[in-house]
Amino acid sequence: MKKEIRHIALKSGAAKVGISSVDRFEGGPASMNPGYLLPGARSIVSVMLPLDGEIIRAYLGKKDHQSLQEHETAVYAKLFDICKEIAGALRSGGFKAVAVQPNLDYRFKDGRKYRRIPFVWRQKMTDWLSSKSGRVSASLKKVLVQALYEKTADYTDWNLTPSFSHRYGAVAAGLGSFGWSGNVMTPEYGARVLFDTVITDAIMPSDPMMEDAPCDGCRICTKVCQVGMIHPKNEDHVVIGRKRFTHAKKGHNLRCILCCAGFTGQDRHKGWSTWSPGRITLPDNDDTIVYFWNSFVKSNLWKHNYYSKCLSDLVFHSDYGFIDKPYDRFRTTCGNCQFVCWETREQRKVNYEILTTGGEVVEGPDFSFKVQKPGAPPTEGLC
Ligand code: SF4
Ligand code: SF4
Repeated sequence: MKKEIRHIALKSGAAKVGISSVDRFEGGPASMNPGYLLPGARSIVSVMLPLDGEIIRAYLGKKDHQSLQEHETAVYAKLFDICKEIAGALRSGGFKAVAVQPNLDYRFKDGRKYRRIPFVWRQKMTDWLSSKSGRVSASLKKVLVQALYEKTADYTDWNLTPSFSHRYGAVAAGLGSFGWSGNVMTPEYGARVLFDTVITDAIMPSDPMMEDAPCDGCRICTKVCQVGMIHPKNEDHVVIGRKRFTHAKKGHNLRCILCCAGFTGQDRHKGWSTWSPGRITLPDNDDTIVYFWNSFVKSNLWKHNYYSKCLSDLVFHSDYGFIDKPYDRFRTTCGNCQFVCWETREQRKVNYEILTTGGEVVEGPDFSFKVQKPGAPPTEGLC
């Protein structure tokens, strides 16, 4: 069976494929449990595809945003297709199998209160709250948000546990090893790779895990994060298949969400930004970040501004998943820690230089944005 699965994956276009039995995940965090999506799971199949280097560098250097967004979506879609093919073959062989969504698939959606409000109403409500309105209706919206937000938000675990972590799957299946950033690095492409996973009750022997980590500790990943998500010194650990992996102590996941969803594109580092014109300043201490987030939502959701647009777009992100999200409701803004981390230190240094000299994205009228290159007139685009 294993040989057949490998053959299907590679024939369907996977760059790499690996298999792990579920015992390698024993004792791990919740997102390492394949039984959440498939009770009785016995093995996982991890599939990898690389991202194009030229497209990444054009993105990092603020030359071309759209190509990266389309490319990333297409690679995720391809991975999901490969995984559906593998899952189909396993099911034809009489096994149970689930092809896992490749990104934006979090367990908080299982919350009872979350499900109770149908998506279409949740979306209509956030769109209405953030729409243009006069002074009276804005005041009404404000009262409504202040009264209702806590009631609908208290079910959400903002640490966002994925249904299954493709990174843990990839490391267990021997496709790569953790870099300091916590991203999975491969010897062939560094961290500029994406993964997807099939979970099955078929019993298959595990592939060997990677012996040597490709990360050389350059810490460039810590310097390209505008919100201080990746600690430069403090460590954290995870055990997979009895092997202990070390990576950076990470900040609260809301830090990354606030950056990637566009609320801030420049916080810790001046002179350059992500692809977001947002400029909110995050608290230094993670103990207050959930309070900060809730207060921020309550004071912005009822306004018609860039931030309320980000908030109502966020509802789309969480309900559609990465592949099916509508383009006009989603914009990749960061990913820097992954995109700079190529296989050699020389390449990473070049990427850092490209990012930090590429200019800043600033807000224009009506949710447009401008790329402000040092010493050049701004170029415009739609937010
Ligand atoms: S940027 Fe450097 S330190 Fe960070 S994960 Fe990559 S190789 Fe490791
Ligand atoms: S994706 Fe961006 S915000 Fe998130 S950890 Fe990486 S660099 Fe930081």
